[in-house]
Amino acid sequence: MDSGRLPHALLLSGPEGCGKLPVARALAQYIHCQHRHDGDSCGVCPSCVQHASFGHADMHYVYPVVKSKTKGVYVSADNIAEWQRFLQEYPYAGWRNWLEISEAGNSRPSIHVEESSEIVRRMNMTNYAAAYKIALMWLPEKLEPAAANKLLKIIEEPYADTLFIFVSDEPKEILPTIYSRLQRVEMRRFSDSAIAGILERECGVDRDAAIQIAALSDGNAAAAVEAAAASGELEGFMRTFQEMMRKAYGRQVRELRELSETVAAMGREKNMRFLAYCSRMVRENFIYNLQVPQLRGQNRAEEQFSSRFAPFVTAANAPGMMELFDTAAEDIGRNANAKIVLFDTMLQLIVLLVRR
Ligand SMILES: [Zn+2]
Repeated sequence: MDSGRLPHALLLSGPEGCGKLPVARALAQYIHCQHRHDGDSCGVCPSCVQHASFGHADMHYVYPVVKSKTKGVYVSADNIAEWQRFLQEYPYAGWRNWLEISEAGNSRPSIHVEESSEIVRRMNMTNYAAAYKIALMWLPEKLEPAAANKLLKIIEEPYADTLFIFVSDEPKEILPTIYSRLQRVEMRRFSDSAIAGILERECGVDRDAAIQIAALSDGNAAAAVEAAAASGELEGFMRTFQEMMRKAYGRQVRELRELSETVAAMGREKNMRFLAYCSRMVRENFIYNLQVPQLRGQNRAEEQFSSRFAPFVTAANAPGMMELFDTAAEDIGRNANAKIVLFDTMLQLIVLLVRR
């Protein structure tokens, strides 16, 4: 960019979670920035602010979507809210995360022919403010053949002020007619220490845990961030579970009501995961009593807790407690009022803990 030799169609490829999409987005922002300095964008000019809020008029994102007449989805722009959430929640952009956020279900998102018409239309429009109009396509390997054919001309003979940035997990699966027209840049995996740094800086994970998670994530930042989030959540679940059991055992009804409200505030999806966790903990504490270590899936902190708590979980109350949590999860899944369900669940726990 600085030497004025930016290719008009660029392909960033490399393994999942190596940071291709963040690099592509940073490049687009850099190109549009009004006060570039020291090889970086300024972050504060109107262009940079528009990039950060996904509002830059000369920036066009393209990504796979599930075409749906009933939902009125044909092109990327029809899923823009999901896309923004995806980039914010999963900056390292895993395909699985996109399937989840875009609620693809059993359908496989792809880039359809309507999308190519839209790209051609957008690239034909007058620039709003910037010198370049940029189309950033995530996963060109998901282009349907008809859609790819429609793009050949504009990639081969682009307008002087347009730039295509393609970001691919599987460059071998890109249709050859497209692939051969792209200037390719291969990115490598992150090193373990780079991953640990990302976890510390961006996820607030402490140094020891960051190194541990990094060692297991094979240079994939998307997987590492996800693992960190999951382990953070489980720690929180464990603390809440312990607090709930202590208060139920102590028959602290007023405190249980407060706790049920705190838990309810976590939201429906997280409530259901928490209740599944509770059910699993009861099962594992019951097994703990049977002294069958190989059946247990506990970490060290959970095991420490079990050494004190397990005696309270017996054949007389374990099945009842598990059913209690499972039913609560089902009810919340069906949109029952979480505060009421959780408080009721906790009151029934008091009764079950007495029955040993
Ligand atoms: Zn700027």
